[in-house]
Formats: sequence, C-alpha cells, structure tokens
Amino acid sequence: MDSKIHPVNVFKFCPCCGSSNYITSGPRSKHCEDCSFDYFFNASAAASALIFDEKGRLMLTRRAINPHKGKLDLPGGFVEHDETAEQAIIRELNEELGAEVEEMSFFGTFPNQYEFSGMIVFTLDSTFIIKLKSLENLKPQDDITAVEYHHLHDIDLDELPFLSMRNTIEQLQKTRK
Ligand SMILES: [Zn+2]
Repeated sequence: MDSKIHPVNVFKFCPCCGSSNYITSGPRSKHCEDCSFDYFFNASAAASALIFDEKGRLMLTRRAINPHKGKLDLPGGFVEHDETAEQAIIRELNEELGAEVEEMSFFGTFPNQYEFSGMIVFTLDSTFIIKLKSLENLKPQDDITAVEYHHLHDIDLDELPFLSMRNTIEQLQKTRK
C-alpha cells in the first residue's frame, strides 16, 4: 500500500505538544524530540465469525457501507478495550444479525490492513467457527444489505476486499471439505 498513507507519515505533529519535530522512530512508531512523547501504531484487535448452514455453506454478508460498499464480508467487528475476542464476536453477532451463539471454537488469527479516512488501518482478526442457536429470523442491521451462503470452493476471492478474509477462506478451503 502507498507509504504516504502509512500512519507514521500521516501523523506529522506531536499530539501532545503540537511540535513538528515529530520523527518516525521505527516501522510503526513516532517520537517527539521536544516533549519525548512516544506512540506506537499497533494493530487493532478484531473478530470474525465463520458460520456454516446445514449444507456446509459459509455465511457472508454484503457491506452496505464504505470501505468496500457492495463487497462480501464476514460477520464481525472490532474488539472493545475491555473485551475478549470471544465476547466481541458474541456481541457483534447479536448487534449485526440479532443472532445468539450456541457453540464456538477458535480457528486462527489473520492480519489485515485497509484504507480508511486517508490512512492505512492495521488489524489482527481473530476468527471463530460458530454455531448459532438458529439461522432463522436473522435481523441484519443497517451496515449489511444481505446475508448470503456460499460453498467454500465457489467463493470469488475478488469479491472479498480484505486480505485477512481471503486468507481465512483459503485456510478453510484447505482444511474443510
Ligand atoms: Zn511533543
């Protein structure tokens, strides 16, 4: 991705003292030479759900919002500061789909980056294989236009805008029949 939109290049002034003497001190860190404030642009934690229907098809949602409006997505979202990734995915499925989780197991973590507000955002996505109490009567919220089920081997990876999701699906294609 274009290095001009990497956070170390977007943040030009110290957020504490406003100094422009704000240097890049590492691949993801800045240091203020006037007030010594250090900041690291660490990846944010996110969580995604891998939900299969009775035919073994994977649930994907259509994004109603940018970035990547109209493209496919996995249900999920960011982990709040005081949450576990498990709590986050349970909350997100309830908020996004009105769904209740019955069983879950950890699948793996996948790094991601995307452009938002003119800057690269870095995340680490924890993925969980999830069984919902029911796939009936899901209530998608405003950021989703449709809930779809796709056979793993039929998913067009170009329809998945996020690297972490393409890598997740490729891993699923290798490990599930
Ligand atoms: Zn400063």
